[in-house]
Amino acid sequence: MPQLTARATGRDLLRCRRCGAEFPEGQATEDGWHYSCPEEECEATGIGEGLKRVD
Ligand SMILES: [Zn+2]
Repeated sequence: MPQLTARATGRDLLRCRRCGAEFPEGQATEDGWHYSCPEEECEATGIGEGLKRVD
């Protein structure tokens, strides 16, 4: 189950394409499957759509 692996490693940094916030992957998901920006007023969701990984 790759989702569990992603959550376990969980330290990758993500950046919101909409508001520009950066946050650890673990803050953007609760189940390791659905991702959304943790900023309250931002509704960006999805890796590659609303969020992207910071290399
Ligand atoms: Zn955002």
